[in-house]
Amino acid sequence: MSPERPGRGELGRALEEMVGKDNVLTEEVDLLPYSADHFLKGLQHYFPRFRFLPDAVVTPSSTAQVSRILRFASLHRIPVIPRGAGTSLAGQLIPVEGGIVMDLKKMNRIEPKVEDRMVVAGPGATYAELNRELERRGYFFPPEPGSAMACTVGGMVSTNASGSGAVKYGATRNYVLSLEVVLAGGEVVRLGRRVTKSASGYSLKDLFVGSEGTLGVITEVTLRVEPYPPLRRTTLAVFPSLEDAFRSAMEILGRGITPASLELLDELCLLALNMSGFSLPEGKGALMLRSDGRYEEAVGREMGEME
Ligand SMILES: Cc1cc2nc3c(=O)[nH]c(=O)nc-3n(C[C@H](O)[C@H](O)[C@H](O)COP(=O)(O)OP(=O)(O)OC[C@H]3O[C@@H](n4cnc5c(N)ncnc54)[C@H](O)[C@@H]3O)c2cc1C
Repeated sequence: MSPERPGRGELGRALEEMVGKDNVLTEEVDLLPYSADHFLKGLQHYFPRFRFLPDAVVTPSSTAQVSRILRFASLHRIPVIPRGAGTSLAGQLIPVEGGIVMDLKKMNRIEPKVEDRMVVAGPGATYAELNRELERRGYFFPPEPGSAMACTVGGMVSTNASGSGAVKYGATRNYVLSLEVVLAGGEVVRLGRRVTKSASGYSLKDLFVGSEGTLGVITEVTLRVEPYPPLRRTTLAVFPSLEDAFRSAMEILGRGITPASLELLDELCLLALNMSGFSLPEGKGALMLRSDGRYEEAVGREMGEME
């Protein structure tokens, strides 16, 4: 039989022993920001009942610490929720059964290896910081979710995040070469390989991409990177109906053009943009189109073909 689940005080003391006093929170006021994801945070003001406090928040700074915490939690049957920047919107982060929220922001190492077209990063490295480091070296990690300014590499891998560039560049999964993961019982495993092509064996890393923290805690990610395209042109085409906008998008793709970005906007989106200060023409549908590349002539020609 597993030992009884410890109370908040006892849990806090056990975690402090593993990671130090400064890396554990157990006071209610400190736990509050961890009681919701980005979506629920907005609602809590109106529905204070939707407030699910964890028993403790722990901020590890190494794989060894993550392993110790998970082994302890597993033994005592305490739920653990890994957390990046907390920008997700689907409720995965809400500690409905209390337990431990594991905040990974301190594991934010970034090690560019652009000579091998890859970067090694800790789960807490932010997308923005990662790309700042890469762009200085002429490279980038393309999937760019709308939350790019805040979200973390661990959160992106765990949700297979993507953005408006998915049509050309794909989603996070397409860039994950290897992962270091700590399983629920504390075992550390390495999945995938740091090579561009690897065809042997089961692709277990892919099981973890998009697994939303349910299978283990990702403690290191190796990502493939792309040369940064210095030229980017963006335009917005407004249509009399959403169907017309959709048909045009399919026509562009059908002609073999792969825009860097192809985003369909409905009337409500256009209205929201205009209410927030833009002065776009009125319409029932629109396409946001982007072309990128190295050469002015090629980018200009692609934009011309789409227009
Ligand atoms: C304004 C806005 C725009 C957005 N736009 C997009 C978009 O365009 N495309 C898109 O895909 N998403 C989008 N999102 C959703 C969200 O931002 C992304 O899913 C993002 O990748 C989450 O990253 P995060 O660091 O905030 O992760 P969190 O929200 O902290 O966590 C997300 C999930 O991953 C798990 N997790 C986090 N770190 C780890 C780890 N190290 N190991 C194991 N599990 C872990 C968590 O438990 C949770 O289940 C948007 C959100 C907002 C608020």
